[in-house]
Amino acid sequence: MNSTPSSVLEDGHRELVEAFESFVRRELVPLAAELPETADQPPADLRAYVRKRSAALGFYAGDYPEELGGSGMPFTAVVLLHHAAGRSGCSLAPYALAGSDGPSPLLRHGTPEQIERYLTPLVRGEAARCLALTEPQAGSDAFRLTCTARRDGDGWVISGRKTFVSNADRADFALVVTATDLGEGPTGGATAFVLPMDQPGLRIGQRYEGMSGEPLFELVLEQVRVPMDAVIGGEQGVGAAMALAMDSLSRGRLVVAAMSNGVAEYALRLGVEYAREREAFGERIGNYQHVQEHLVRSRAEVEASKLLTLACARLVDEGTEAPENAALAKLTASETAVRVVDRSLQVHGATGWVRGHPLEFLYRYVRMMTIIEGTSEVQKVIVARAMGLG
Ligand SMILES: Cc1cc2nc3c(=O)[nH]c(=O)nc-3n(C[C@H](O)[C@H](O)[C@H](O)COP(=O)(O)OP(=O)(O)OC[C@H]3O[C@@H](n4cnc5c(N)ncnc54)[C@H](O)[C@@H]3O)c2cc1C
Repeated sequence: MNSTPSSVLEDGHRELVEAFESFVRRELVPLAAELPETADQPPADLRAYVRKRSAALGFYAGDYPEELGGSGMPFTAVVLLHHAAGRSGCSLAPYALAGSDGPSPLLRHGTPEQIERYLTPLVRGEAARCLALTEPQAGSDAFRLTCTARRDGDGWVISGRKTFVSNADRADFALVVTATDLGEGPTGGATAFVLPMDQPGLRIGQRYEGMSGEPLFELVLEQVRVPMDAVIGGEQGVGAAMALAMDSLSRGRLVVAAMSNGVAEYALRLGVEYAREREAFGERIGNYQHVQEHLVRSRAEVEASKLLTLACARLVDEGTEAPENAALAKLTASETAVRVVDRSLQVHGATGWVRGHPLEFLYRYVRMMTIIEGTSEVQKVIVARAMGLG
């Protein structure tokens, strides 16, 4: 690792990051090389293998406690691993770290039985889940839910539709967030349930093909009858989903920031390597100031973004989880990554535009970063409020 300003903040976790990079190089790169060049997403069984192998080595879900199968590492270390996964350029590396199909912080608020039955296999990489929060009329405004759970004797009956759900086709269970009806209509409070994917009344509806090959799904819930023990957190979880989700939002956003920084760094490396070799008008294109402008500006933005993300992660470890910090980091990193990938592709000309080139894939892949875990505009709303505006 060279000495960049941001590398100062990597001190203390260097051995861990190097061990992860070595795992990626020795085990994942050869597996990724066997995938067809134009396959955007690895097959589900390969993802499951990578997940389990990484968990056995202590990388996957590393910030979860050892008694659940994690490694109890600080959050800064998790952020650095996500960064390293993106920076590696290996298409399988992101699946070696817990993401949208991995252990959900929501389940940390589960009952002891829920933790043992659902969270522990997720931490060990032995199970996958999906999160069904978004609805056709409730995206950024995430808790304006119409999918409703109605109290029915000792249990609940859930009806409604969820949309844009990742991983639904290969999840073992779904975390479903609903409006709560205790008998007199929805109260406004949201309740989170954990449902096996083969739960009667629950089915996958429409499949949406995403830009980067990752499909999203509609989940249809028709009179789904569940017992009380399907409520995350049991009786105390009724109407409390928003409060349960709040403490994990910042961490999720910092992970997206780290992934974005890693992708940006990889894209920049490709751009610099190409600019050093490619010739036009009898000169290396890297000699032209217009090309240098793309790459130097990108370098400045990536370094600044990494510093911001790592500083925010360190604050989380020190006990400060201010939502506006994570919002600033996510906004900066995701928008930086979109710009940097775009510029590196431009530096490659047609070569970077051709299907099968890493930048062609990254151009489509990185676009989701400004939408997932809260859009850029929502991050700006959070920061504006923290500034006493609006
Ligand atoms: C790749 C991907 C994976 C996803 N996976 C999941 C998943 O697993 N589970 C799940 O539940 N959902 C998932 N989603 C959905 C995601 O959470 C939503 O797309 C996101 O919350 C935005 O909601 P929306 O798309 O309905 O946009 P909208 O909320 O309709 O927003 C449309 C536009 O209006 C802007 N806007 C909205 N409100 C404001 C405001 N107050 N101020 C300024 N601008 C505003 C937005 O920023 C955006 O530009 C996924 C989405 C993607 C792209």
